[in-house]
Amino acid sequence: MIDKLVIANRGEIALRILRACGELGIRTVALHSQADADTKYVRLASESVCIGPAPAAASYLNIPAVIAAAEVTDATAIHPGYGFLAENADFAERVEQSGFIFVGPSAETIRLMGDKISAISAMKASGVPCVPGSDGSLPDDSDEIMRIASDIGYPIIIKATAGGGGKGMRVVHTEAALLNAWQLTRSEALAAFGNDTVYMERYLEKPRHVEFQVLADTYGEVVVLGDRDCSMQRRHQKVLEEAPAPGIPDDVRHDMNERCANACREIGYRGAGTFEFLYENGEFFFIEMNTRLQVEHPVTELITGVDIVREQIKIAAGEPLSIKQSDVRLRGHAVECRINAENSETFLPSPGQITQYHQPGGPGIRVDSHIFNNYKVPPYYDSMIAKVIAYGENREQAIQRMRGALREMVVEGIDTNISLQQRLVDDAAFRQRALDIHYLERQLLP
Ligand code: ADP
Repeated sequence: MIDKLVIANRGEIALRILRACGELGIRTVALHSQADADTKYVRLASESVCIGPAPAAASYLNIPAVIAAAEVTDATAIHPGYGFLAENADFAERVEQSGFIFVGPSAETIRLMGDKISAISAMKASGVPCVPGSDGSLPDDSDEIMRIASDIGYPIIIKATAGGGGKGMRVVHTEAALLNAWQLTRSEALAAFGNDTVYMERYLEKPRHVEFQVLADTYGEVVVLGDRDCSMQRRHQKVLEEAPAPGIPDDVRHDMNERCANACREIGYRGAGTFEFLYENGEFFFIEMNTRLQVEHPVTELITGVDIVREQIKIAAGEPLSIKQSDVRLRGHAVECRINAENSETFLPSPGQITQYHQPGGPGIRVDSHIFNNYKVPPYYDSMIAKVIAYGENREQAIQRMRGALREMVVEGIDTNISLQQRLVDDAAFRQRALDIHYLERQLLP
């Protein structure tokens, strides 16, 4: 059904999609900017098209250029990866209107879930627990806003409905700070997302971030591939992820699986997706859904044996899911460390030439990365250069293998966060138990 697929992304995820296509016998078209012309994955693809200059706005975010590249190469489908155009409903629409298959859900679903307020109301309607909050957008009325906040109870968090990437959020601890924070968040949201609609919810003080991976085909079959804990964050950005989320009782996990599957059926979901929750005192609260493949999908692949990218492509081709919920077994434990080209103290990006690269290996170690000796990390994009993933029979073994892998890994010529990841996996508290989303910043950062 799909004989040629356009990879509308770059870096490690472009390579990951290319590998899945190779296995499925699908030819690939690697799209790249001028800055990414000299990469191995571009050379490995069946064909490649340069879609513009280095800045993402002129290349990876350039919808007409992406569509034109699919046309000139006579491709069947377009895979957006994550980031860039992956959650752009207008893009998904243009792809389908131009006669191509979009590897992902419908534009309508992306739109519904891309707006946090409409996502929350859809989730509430289908029985998914949400954070107590303002039930929709905040009115333009300061008395009313003060009333809503005191009903919810401080601290509260004001969030932009169009927010993403950890931006467009502000925590408010006291009534005195409320109106100012509301105005600030609104103007920031307008500047960053072109939409100043904000809402309010209770700010959970020590939650964990736990999310559920789903796959849904076009025949109404839904499979939940368990959960992941992504609580190790800096500035609301994930640093380390693991699966399964430690310490979730079986009956609670089972109940959440059912609720997520049910929500997928209610909204007519198609493809791979993730329901993100905050988990505090044994309770789950929905925060948002990601309607795409996620960076941390490999930890789920390792504990379920399911190739998520392959399933995603097969679903897009109109094939039924090759697994049933009753086939899904969570076996062992997996941990992923995101390796970024950044200074581990200042967190400033560190682009430049990698003069020496040694990739770790051995039992249970998987590395998803597009880098190589002498590769030049461009300054234009996200700083993630590799994902190191460790699998073990249990959490202890997975962490132990990760410690070995990080010790083995050599990246010279640029700064990386490997030493921060080492501090984290060496940390006694982390090794002992699941920690909340503030732990990394509170305990391990300068
Ligand atoms: P984004 O779309 O920007 O990723 P999310 O809604 O997924 O935004 O929130 C990102 C992170 O912000 C969460 O993982 C959590 O760390 C924090 N956060 C969001 N909402 C709340 C809340 N109600 N209470 C506490 N922390 C929150």
